[in-house]
Amino acid sequence: MSLGEIKDGKLIAISPSTLEKIGEVKVVPPQDVEKHVERARKAFPGWKALSFRERAEYIFAAKNYILAHLDKLADLMVLENGKPKVEALNSDLFVGLEVMTYFAKRGERILRDEPVRNPQMYFKEKRHYICYEPVGVVGVIAPWNFPFSISMSGVSMALLAGNTVLLKPSPHTCLIGEKFSEIFQSAGLPEGVFQALPGGNDTGEALVKANIDKIVFTGSVRTGKRIMETCAPHLRPLMLELGGKDPMLVREDADLEAAASGAVWGAFTNCGQVCASVERVYVNKKIAKVFIDRVVEKTSKLRVGDPSRDSMDVGPMISMEQLKIVESHLSEAQEKGAKVLVGGKRIEGLKGYFIQPAVLANVNHTMRIMKEETFGPALPIMEVENDGEAVALANDSEYGLCASVWSRDVREAERMAQQIETGLVTVNDALYGYAVPQIPWGGVKYSSLGHSHAEMGLKEFVHPKTVSIDKGFMKKKMYWYPYSEKTTQLMRKTMQFVFGKGISKIKF
Ligand code: NAD
Repeated sequence: MSLGEIKDGKLIAISPSTLEKIGEVKVVPPQDVEKHVERARKAFPGWKALSFRERAEYIFAAKNYILAHLDKLADLMVLENGKPKVEALNSDLFVGLEVMTYFAKRGERILRDEPVRNPQMYFKEKRHYICYEPVGVVGVIAPWNFPFSISMSGVSMALLAGNTVLLKPSPHTCLIGEKFSEIFQSAGLPEGVFQALPGGNDTGEALVKANIDKIVFTGSVRTGKRIMETCAPHLRPLMLELGGKDPMLVREDADLEAAASGAVWGAFTNCGQVCASVERVYVNKKIAKVFIDRVVEKTSKLRVGDPSRDSMDVGPMISMEQLKIVESHLSEAQEKGAKVLVGGKRIEGLKGYFIQPAVLANVNHTMRIMKEETFGPALPIMEVENDGEAVALANDSEYGLCASVWSRDVREAERMAQQIETGLVTVNDALYGYAVPQIPWGGVKYSSLGHSHAEMGLKEFVHPKTVSIDKGFMKKKMYWYPYSEKTTQLMRKTMQFVFGKGISKIKF
């Protein structure tokens, strides 16, 4: 049995720690997807007609159910996803709850009608305002690495904005995906407003092809490109949150103890399977030896094993495929001269996909480990001459999700942050951006198309509609028929007045 395998119409759930079967979930086959989309479309007018506050009440009810079942949900994530319980609670459940609660409280203000100031004398007798309408039926396609927080973020924001939602969870975390139906059923959501569609990649593909109004996808660049191609003939709007190759830049004046701890956590939390993991480090050569020694020492102390034991820091990887990518990046780097200072070997005696977190030196940009997303517990460290070289190497990437700069001189770190081509740069910490719903989450280059979170993230789930009202004071507008010489002259004079020396100096 392999992870995500479908047998007799059921997804087989396997623990990545023990490789034992832990459950199964009935699949929604591709040919049934349209039926579910129709159900969601039927439910849309009723859901849209509710006030924001009424919809928020359902989200609060879902939140209460989650809180009442916190340990059960966390334990399931430990079992199916292989992350330690602290991480299941902290980076999955906490973040999901934070996002749903923040937008349930704040979203009404973000989406309220906006009056538009109208300084143009031409249209003075008009009044405009923008209102935000839900896009309709939204498909949320989710990855396995944060099976709760990423799914909950997309689903709760889409629902709050007034859309009906279909969630396609990753086949690797189908049991957690199934919990979403339980959560929203218990919250009493009306029929068809939320549906989970467990299934393989073909179920996801069917959802993208179905009669749907927007796709919100989080996953790999490869799948993101394919989804974009599928959406193109229908001009279907989409939002993509994709991969990363996040750099960490350690300046000469950095607090090395903090930077080393940050590097180890940033690279190995969730077994390195985070889109915003620290995937490469550029350290000033004057302090490189001390920094690398501390990183190696801290890495060798990490406890790797059964994530259900409280004392474990790092669990297994999700699958053999992911583990082999890590091994291939490590071996290719070694062939080109890199030195593995610690880790990089599978752990004997454990059945699951366990590998010791690895730290490498003598790396350069000819190696895949410095250029491609590894998405596993490997931390290559490269020495640089100065800040300029660090920034140039950080930008030498087809990804641009996040980056971090480590320095005691915050001003100088900010100056560097401004030169880095990513969606988020953190100073003296890494990786936490998704947990702050107030800031936009998304990157540049191959990392994203669109944003989750913040005001602009909620507005991904609506379209702006402007209502423009003429107060009816003038029976005839200057620009209406019939045209005449008099109108031409009037227009000329008006333009001289508006754009000439006089009125154009007035600030609006
Ligand atoms: P993936 O692309 O393999 O799968 C993601 C989801 O897409 C799954 O539910 C899968 O079943 C579905 N899918 C696969 N093929 C499809 C198709 N043709 N049409 C529609 N749906 C399809 O990614 P993954 O392995 O689950 O996740 C890991 C990747 O996700 C990494 O690259 C990571 O960086 C990225 N990620 C990005 C963010 C972010 O916010 N930027 C967050 C988490 C993960």
